[in-house]
Amino acid sequence: MSDTSQSAALFERARAVTPGGVNSPVRAFRGVGGTPRFVASAKGAWLTDVDGTRYVDLISSWGPMILGHAHPDVLDAVAQTASRGFSFGTPSENEVALAEEIVARVEPLEQVRLVSSGTEATMSALRLARGATGRSAVVKFAGCYHGHVDALLAHAGSGVATFALPDSAGVPASAAGETIVLPYNDLAAVEAAFAERGEEIAAVITEAAAGNMGVVPPAPGFTEGLRRITAAHGALLISDEVMTGFRCSPSGWYGHETRAGGEHPGGYPSGAPDLFTFGKVMGGGFPAAAFGGRADLMAHLAPDGPVYQAGTLSGNPVATAAGLATLRGCTPSLYDHLAEVSQTIGAAASDALTQAGVPHTLQRASSMFSVFFTDGPVERYSDAQGQDTAAFGRFFHAMLDAGVHLPPSAYESWFVSGAHDDEAVETVLAALPGAARAAAAG
Ligand code: PMP
Repeated sequence: MSDTSQSAALFERARAVTPGGVNSPVRAFRGVGGTPRFVASAKGAWLTDVDGTRYVDLISSWGPMILGHAHPDVLDAVAQTASRGFSFGTPSENEVALAEEIVARVEPLEQVRLVSSGTEATMSALRLARGATGRSAVVKFAGCYHGHVDALLAHAGSGVATFALPDSAGVPASAAGETIVLPYNDLAAVEAAFAERGEEIAAVITEAAAGNMGVVPPAPGFTEGLRRITAAHGALLISDEVMTGFRCSPSGWYGHETRAGGEHPGGYPSGAPDLFTFGKVMGGGFPAAAFGGRADLMAHLAPDGPVYQAGTLSGNPVATAAGLATLRGCTPSLYDHLAEVSQTIGAAASDALTQAGVPHTLQRASSMFSVFFTDGPVERYSDAQGQDTAAFGRFFHAMLDAGVHLPPSAYESWFVSGAHDDEAVETVLAALPGAARAAAAG
């Protein structure tokens, strides 16, 4: 095992001044135990921690680093932009260019508003949906995480799943009472909820393909069914593409699912989602996110309309420059590479676990994939909750000891990048058999 003394010392200092020693709960390693690695630098597919140990990175900052760390084109764009000032509080050209790039990529979008985090994007999309429909209830799915918005924290995935919190303290009953939580991939439950409360429901929000309870793609016809049901009841459909956007295809999950030869070539027969939310990749590792949709719907937002939404750092010039440079690097050949690398690593992980006799299920949504430590299939959150998280913890630590940093939770997607080259992939493949044996040795 490598030396972790510098990380341990920093963690100790951090715990004195920061709750749990971290600024986002899942980083604390509570699900897997041990000392979180404090990263000093990152380049390409590799992280280097403060003790000087290198790891192949399969977190990719939870999605954004699709080109790999410190990609030269992004670094150049950031340095050039920053040299001209960091934030103006006035409109600037990069915001326009990034909005144009996003609108050009995702066919149903006419306008986007830029914000600084995925949480802000979903919170604002929800406010817009409520403002536009004059209704207040919202449907979300158990295991889907949409950020730490009061109304959307009920039965959320991601860190909430890792810590087995049913809900968060501090969310008023009035906020939770407007949230109807249904099982993912269960259209009958959606029909029933609309039959009962259809006139109150402003929107259904769904992860375009779930990645926060581990990876659970929508069952064939699920998104189309949500579109049909919401349209019939005058409710909006919000597709949360914060994780999948520009990762699952050049135009996100929407493009992946509707492209020629896909499930719904040319779009969903009942129409596209009304609103989309984005984050992660479109900020290239900087705080930038967005929500958008048809112009008539977006016109409800201030300054044109009565739905208020704003941000001091929204459309920040440096963040938008990083996002733009990243999206420009998201070429068709990048997606071929992501597909190949995720296929190779996923298949090898599954083989190693099978060899070691560890029950598991590998699931994918385009190049996002995760290994559930349970017999599958996993179609909804309750299936994922049966996982052997102790086995995952042993697997995680054996991978870490062999120089591979997985997400420190059994409920998260693994992310690869354009920088995961042969050396990085070989390092992962070499680590897997031993980690699978460790997982089996419970
Ligand atoms: N929606 C989805 C689908 C996400 O995966 C996340 C973050 N993991 C969010 C929203 C929230 O984004 P942020 O952490 O940037 O607030």
